Amino acid sequence: MFLHNLNSGPSILPRPVLEEAAAAIHNFNGTGLSILEIGHRTTHFMEVLEEAIQSVRTLTGLGDDYAVLFLHGGATTQFMQVPMNLLPQNGLAAYCDNGIWGNKAAKEAALFGTVDVVADSSDQKHTYIQKDLLVPDKASYLHITTNNTVEGTQWHQYPDVQVPLVADMSSDIFCRPTPFHQFDLIYAGAQKNMGAAGVNMVIIKKELLGKTGRAIPTIMDYQKHIAAGSLMNTPPVFAVYVSMLTLRWIIQEGGLAEMQRRNEAKARLLYDTLDSLPVFRPTVQREDRSLMNAVFFLQDPGLEASFLEQCKQAGMIGVKGYRTVGGCRVSMYNALPYSSVEAFCDLLRNFAAKHG
Ligand SMILES: *Cc1c(COP(=O)(O)O)cnc(C)c1O
Repeated sequence: MFLHNLNSGPSILPRPVLEEAAAAIHNFNGTGLSILEIGHRTTHFMEVLEEAIQSVRTLTGLGDDYAVLFLHGGATTQFMQVPMNLLPQNGLAAYCDNGIWGNKAAKEAALFGTVDVVADSSDQKHTYIQKDLLVPDKASYLHITTNNTVEGTQWHQYPDVQVPLVADMSSDIFCRPTPFHQFDLIYAGAQKNMGAAGVNMVIIKKELLGKTGRAIPTIMDYQKHIAAGSLMNTPPVFAVYVSMLTLRWIIQEGGLAEMQRRNEAKARLLYDTLDSLPVFRPTVQREDRSLMNAVFFLQDPGLEASFLEQCKQAGMIGVKGYRTVGGCRVSMYNALPYSSVEAFCDLLRNFAAKHG
C-alpha cells in the first residue's frame, strides 16, 4: 500500500534525499567509507558542513553579521540555551505563549531570569495567535514560535518590536520566503522541515552575544561554537548531512518561492475541503491557520475513532492529534506531495458522504 506521511515530526523527507542518504551509509561520495565512519574534521565532512551553512545563507540572504551553527539536540535544548546566552543575570525576557512549545520555552527561560509573558492565547485553547504585544523596552529579547505545530497556528506577519526578536522556527523553517533579517536569533530542530532529528540549526546576530555576565558551560556557549565553526566537539554528522541534502533539494527545486507556491496550494486544498464538509470542524481562526499543520475535529466526536481507522486503512500516517489537544492533525511539510493532500481530501469527502 502507498503510504501518505502526514506525520508532525519526525516527518516526511524528500525521496531523493533519503536515497542519497541511504547510499552514503554504504559509500559516502566514493570514499569507500560510510558517512557514519568518517571523521568530522576530514575535508569530506567539512565540505558537508560548509555546504549546509552556505545553503542557509543562500536561502536566508543573511550576511556575515549573523553566524550559522549546527548544534546538538532538539529545539528543547534551545529553550535553555537561548536564555543562557542572551538573558543577563537579573534580566528580563518577553515570551509569547501561543501554544505548548512557546509555553515550554518560557518556563525554561524563567530558570535564568524574569519572564514577562506578553501574549497568551490559552483562553481559547490556542486556536488563534495573540498578536497584540506590550513588550517592555528593557526586555533583552522577545521570543515567538513562528508556527505552533501542535495547535495548527502560524504567524503570517511577524511582530514589529524594538527589542531583539528570537524565534523558534522548528516547524515552518524554509516553508516560504521570510524576512529573516527581522530576527536576531532563529533556531529550528531539523526533524520537521529540514532533516533528521538530533541537530538544531541556529542563526544568531553576533553582536547580541557576550552580554549576560554569567558563566556559560562550554557546550552551551554560542560564542565558543562560532569560534569553533560548529566543530567544538563531534557534531551529529549524519543529521547534519541529511540537513545539507534537504537544503540542497530546496534550492534545486526552486527555493523558498517554490516551497511557498506548493505549500499554499496544499493548504488551500485541505482547508477548502474541510470548510466545505460540515462533518469536520477546523478550530483555528482563519487568518492564523498554519500552512504546515492543520488541526480539526469531527463534529460528532463519536465518529473520530472510525475516521482514524479509515485513515489507517488508506495508508494515511500520523492523522491523530497531539495527545493534549485530541482530534486530528495533518502535517504538510515541504516534502509532502500535493497528491497526498488530494488523496486525503478524497478520503474526507468519502467519509462525509457516508456520515454527512
Ligand atoms: C517539535 C518542536 C519542538 C520540540 O523539538 P525537540 O526536537 O523534540 O526538542 C519545539 N518547538 C517546536 C515549534 C516544535 O515543532
